[in-house]
Amino acid sequence: MEAVQAVRGMNDILPEQVGWWQGIEAAARKVLENFGYREMRTPVAEKLELFARGIGESTDIVEKEMYAFEDRNGDWLALRPEATASIVRAYVQHGLHGDSSYHKFYQIGPMFRHERPQKGRYRQFHQIDAEVFGLDGPMIDAEMMHMVSLLMERIGISGVSLNINTLGCPKCRQVYREVLKKFLSDKGDGFCEDCMRRRETNPLRVFDCKVKSCAQLLESAPQLIDHLCEDCRAHFEAVRDHLEKLGTPYAVNPRIVRGLDYYMRTTFEVITDRLGAQSAIGGGGRYDGLVRDLGGPDVAAVGFAMGLERLVLLLEQEKTKPVRSPLCFFASLGDQARASAFLLSQKLRERGVETEIDYEGRSLKSQMRRADKSGAKYVLILGEDELARREVQLRDMLTKTQRILPLDTILETLETIEAEKFNP
Ligand code: AMP
Repeated sequence: MEAVQAVRGMNDILPEQVGWWQGIEAAARKVLENFGYREMRTPVAEKLELFARGIGESTDIVEKEMYAFEDRNGDWLALRPEATASIVRAYVQHGLHGDSSYHKFYQIGPMFRHERPQKGRYRQFHQIDAEVFGLDGPMIDAEMMHMVSLLMERIGISGVSLNINTLGCPKCRQVYREVLKKFLSDKGDGFCEDCMRRRETNPLRVFDCKVKSCAQLLESAPQLIDHLCEDCRAHFEAVRDHLEKLGTPYAVNPRIVRGLDYYMRTTFEVITDRLGAQSAIGGGGRYDGLVRDLGGPDVAAVGFAMGLERLVLLLEQEKTKPVRSPLCFFASLGDQARASAFLLSQKLRERGVETEIDYEGRSLKSQMRRADKSGAKYVLILGEDELARREVQLRDMLTKTQRILPLDTILETLETIEAEKFNP
């Protein structure tokens, strides 16, 4: 019978790859918690309306990429395409804003977008997402970008750059939108179909277009950064000043407009030239009006999201794969010895010593092969003779040396070895 395959663009993360994931997630949790962020876990499905309102009706995500479906009750739901709207919903729904002037949250988990899959672009992918509510000054924008840079360093990724821009506020954007609209209509019909439509509905979105001829036409487009109001200009300059004092390298890139409707003022992207077409590893910015638009209090907000798959692809390019191996493999010969090895192995695990064993009564040769493959540093060998003498052999797989130890104190011996592994 033919086996069922996974959905296209939705990947398994197999045990041999999961070490990368665990390493990145652990580094992210450590850095985020250090900066005062607290984890929040929201459902993967939400009411469709949340994303339509939270991301923007005329964005690619909402128009083309959402996994939306009617459930058995006739309610329209969607698999979350990003985390911000859900975190805002939870923050408002649980009245979290009442207990302090500002809040920092993070979330790590799967997101879903019906995009055309290719390397670095999938239909289920994972994001590290962080949000701050209640702070409108430039300090937090700079701190967030500084934190993202530190996170890249802690994960072990080099050669990426931080690009920053400002999108102004609704006031300066109103002015700019008209300037841009005029530019686009002066350019005539050279744009792709999508851009012709965006020109009318959401002109700023033209900068997201991946079509080469559009990008060429846009090279001489007016830039928002030249049409900022006084407050927005001062905010942006202060962000830059903080980044410089923090020693966080960055480049101003007026082309960073981001794909979601709600951004204003600071936006940023972490980019690389090592992943082909998928150059963005993460990005974020300020979205002061969103919480209010989703029915919450009028608080400022800033956040970012980073793609785990792309981080893994980068790590694979520069590092050797992290392997998970037990400290010890317990080999045994004979039924009685196997029963003792089984009991002692559980005791070792209870004491925190990672242990593998033979359950099947295989030959010693086959057990040694398995031990070797598992990457165990030590193999305990217990035969019926050893058992009778209350002894066990300990083989160091690295030096290929063997010694005989008393069976009754083997738990303590291995516990000491395990402790030395962490404090050599
Ligand atoms: P966005 O929410 O679109 O700003 O995306 C933030 C980050 O999530 C990107 O920089 C990518 O690293 C990652 N990302 C977004 N879409 C995908 C996708 N379809 N597949 C893999 N990673 C993605």
